[in-house]
Amino acid sequence: MRKLVILGGGTAGTMVANKLRAASTQAELSITVVDQDDAHHYQPGYLFLPFGQLAPGQIVRSRHSFIPDGVDLVLCGVEKVDAGAKTVHLRNGRELTYDTLIIATGVQPRLEATPGGDGPEVGKSVHQFYDLPGAEALQEAMRTFQGGRLVVHITEMPIKCPVAPLEFVFLADSYFKDKKIRKKVDITYVTPLDGAFTKPVASRELGDALKSRNIALETDFAIAEIDNETREIISFDERRIPFDLLVTVPLNMGPDYIAASGLGDEMNFVPCDQGTMRSLADPDIFVLGDGGTLKTSKAGSVAHFAVDIFMENWPQYLAGQQLTHNFDGHANCFIESGGGKGMLLDFNYETQPYTGEFPLPGIGPMSLLKETRANHWAKVAFRWVYWNLLITGKPLPFTADMYLMGKKIEDTASGTSTPDLLKGLASTIIRTPARLFGSLPKAKPAPGRPTVARPTSVAAPKASGPKVNPKAAAAFEALPEYVAQQGIDSTADPATVLPDPIVPKF
Ligand SMILES: Cc1cc2nc3c(=O)[nH]c(=O)nc-3n(C[C@H](O)[C@H](O)[C@H](O)COP(=O)(O)OP(=O)(O)OC[C@H]3O[C@@H](n4cnc5c(N)ncnc54)[C@H](O)[C@@H]3O)c2cc1C
Repeated sequence: MRKLVILGGGTAGTMVANKLRAASTQAELSITVVDQDDAHHYQPGYLFLPFGQLAPGQIVRSRHSFIPDGVDLVLCGVEKVDAGAKTVHLRNGRELTYDTLIIATGVQPRLEATPGGDGPEVGKSVHQFYDLPGAEALQEAMRTFQGGRLVVHITEMPIKCPVAPLEFVFLADSYFKDKKIRKKVDITYVTPLDGAFTKPVASRELGDALKSRNIALETDFAIAEIDNETREIISFDERRIPFDLLVTVPLNMGPDYIAASGLGDEMNFVPCDQGTMRSLADPDIFVLGDGGTLKTSKAGSVAHFAVDIFMENWPQYLAGQQLTHNFDGHANCFIESGGGKGMLLDFNYETQPYTGEFPLPGIGPMSLLKETRANHWAKVAFRWVYWNLLITGKPLPFTADMYLMGKKIEDTASGTSTPDLLKGLASTIIRTPARLFGSLPKAKPAPGRPTVARPTSVAAPKASGPKVNPKAAAAFEALPEYVAQQGIDSTADPATVLPDPIVPKF
């Protein structure tokens, strides 16, 4: 039996645990997921908290609800990985050995890494919304802000969901309009990039969206310090931007155990192959989600597409063969633009975001880089999709590879051609009912593709995924406040381990 340990039970870790459990028996593969706490956060929800559009109870669930039967969930921080000895050291002194390790511990905001980021104004006029306590505190700051200079600032790229700070200014514009104090608020968007976004077409379209809302744009700003006394951010080239309320996106770094294990770069990102997400240092370590060095957005959608590619390569990996399926960097990002509208970006490593329609040319219903109500509703619905389909590993009607159909290409592009797309979709549709109801027959290998030798002597119980009640509408109801239950080391049913198990209400 192969031993797999997954570090991190967030978006990528939970998703891949579900997919691997469904694809292999417990006799073939033991799966252990390690996370430091029991609270799974729907991080896109952090954006809506400061504006009172969501409550914390709506974006936090017990991890136990999403880790499938037949997967061991260990709740404890990771101290170090000894890759040579294939051993994970936990903070409680426990050791876990593995044959294969998946690192899915993502990245976290480090406000204190910026000089002044631990000063007396933090929590008063200096805020961030990249974690739950930060987003909650900012809600009060936004509610009581009566006017003045609101500065929204990105410390350094890459950050999770690089469009989230733009969404924040769009929502702030709308929020202050609704409160009838927009004229009293000067909004400035400060970025280390040379435009509103990284790629030319998106930068142009999003720059126009800022201009039309009277939001000032300050580019190429490399921050040296947050001056708590004068309430200014100061750049290395000595530009000073005063604020009454600073909403900064802190440096996003991988966890410290990555550095302690000698597995990361200076940001604690794990260097990995751009196509296979395999660690460059160790062929038995993969990095899924935000924690690697993929040259695309750090986003849940990217984690989803990359996990799909990982699953395609898994049989080849087990057979000791070359991994032939390559991730193309596909990212799919909805941008909430305020006033009940949103935009959509779709791009990959080589193709920048273009305008057009998605998923169907001429029909949509979503539009690329254009503000529409359909894009907004897709973003709203994403929360239900996240809890019910995405992290539970259910099939979604999006292809891992980006396709060109519907895009108005202005420059060079690479992606799946329309005939290949239609072929892929047809095969997905045929397989979807079986995958949804958990009775997918083992896929026949494509000609030339390797098969995996499976032990037949042990009859292991069939793994079942978490049960999901399909009452979609209920996902949008307010839920009671979630209370974190840290440090419970569980190998069993939550009901027998947790004093008061949290049962998700969909
Ligand atoms: C404000 C905001 C808005 C966003 N909006 C969107 C959006 O609209 N669309 C989108 O696609 N994506 C969005 N994202 C990004 C998305 O949430 C992340 O890309 C995604 O969650 C990454 O998944 P992951 O598994 O790599 O990391 P995570 O989901 O962050 O999971 C990492 C896990 O590792 C655990 N961990 C960390 N260190 C340790 C340790 N030492 N020991 C044990 N466990 C540890 C953590 O507890 C966590 O559970 C947004 C993010 C933010 C912050």
